[in-house]
Amino acid sequence: MASNSKQSLHMNPGQGETSYAQNSVIQKTAQERMKTLIEEAMTGLYNTATSSSPLHQKELVIADLGCSSGPNALTLVSAAVDAVVVHRRHCAGVQQLPPPELCVFLNDLPDNDFNTVAKSLAALKQSARPAAMVTAGMIPGSFYDRLFPRASLHLVCSANSLHWLSTVPEELSSGAHLNKGNIYVGKTTPPAVVRLFRKKFREDLSLFLALRAQELVSGGRMVLTFLGRKSAEMLSHGDVGSMWELLAQALAILVQKGRVKGRDLTAFNLPFYAPSVEEVTELVEESGLFDVDHTGVFESTWDPHDDSAAGDDDEVADCARSAENVAYCSIRAVVEPLIAGHFGEGIVDELFEVYGTVVAEHLSKGRAMYPVIDVSLKLKGRLSSRIQHSDSRTL
Ligand code: SAH
Repeated sequence: MASNSKQSLHMNPGQGETSYAQNSVIQKTAQERMKTLIEEAMTGLYNTATSSSPLHQKELVIADLGCSSGPNALTLVSAAVDAVVVHRRHCAGVQQLPPPELCVFLNDLPDNDFNTVAKSLAALKQSARPAAMVTAGMIPGSFYDRLFPRASLHLVCSANSLHWLSTVPEELSSGAHLNKGNIYVGKTTPPAVVRLFRKKFREDLSLFLALRAQELVSGGRMVLTFLGRKSAEMLSHGDVGSMWELLAQALAILVQKGRVKGRDLTAFNLPFYAPSVEEVTELVEESGLFDVDHTGVFESTWDPHDDSAAGDDDEVADCARSAENVAYCSIRAVVEPLIAGHFGEGIVDELFEVYGTVVAEHLSKGRAMYPVIDVSLKLKGRLSSRIQHSDSRTL
């Protein structure tokens, strides 16, 4: 069965036990950290704008790309609305103006569970009043395509999404290169395959930057987080590469048991790449489109419910329980549609049970943390050579 990642990539829908809505605590941590960057980006927007053309009298347009569904879907746009309201409270001479008008857009792939998103958007519009007048919309589509009109956005946010590639590298999905039973970069991945993943990420992120540069107003901001690596090394204990390597091990156990065909495992790779901060900064600089305001890396524990992670202790208090949390609460909610689409629904329960055992063994060697990269960018002034059509909408 060929993998068609664009079609099956979406988080588990609905509100059930294995849904993304019920299992996105780790991603929430990254979003919480983005709030300060969003506040700073909003303040920066206002500060750049005031002298020439006051932003206070304009509608601000904010988009979250890869919103998914559930409690996280609105966190970033809500943070942006709050940041505007708070900023205006501290600005002299603004109180007597009508409340700010904000237009928020939530994007994800078309298979995303937009039904629950729609309901929460209605609630956000209501709760923002009377401090702000919010209009809202949903934009199904890939963020590797144009999504918005030229020069229409003031702020783009995206949390926990840009590590997903547009597709598995073509040379892997066509079978021209093989990944030796790995589903991402594992210890036995041939160097040529590592280069394919890296090349695909470079192409995708460069495209993403170019598309958003067209859609943002001059001086517009972008605040992003995604899974990454702490160093140039591709695999180290606990990072996200190890997490996928363990999932490949669990799949290999199902092959041994005759539950999964070896050739289906050979043909399965994730449309995923975790870059280092240096790779990201280099790509942004190469693009020549954005100034980098901030880059950083922080770490989230694999098991978001592991209370012992708060201390310095490197040992996981209850490996079996933590592994169950990792397998069921985090990873299943994220990759089940991809797994079920490729291997069939029938193996999903058994796979995540086996995966839990493999993860427990890994955690017994020490606590595992995901590195998460956060980035804040500002679109450089519009250059006529860069933008094909001239436009008059700037800050
Ligand atoms: N932002 C949310 C969800 C992150 S999960 C949070 O922080 O919790 C990653 C989301 O990115 C998924 O919903 C997935 O469908 C979406 N995604 C992945 N690739 C995408 C693409 N090319 N275009 C739009 N959304 C994409």
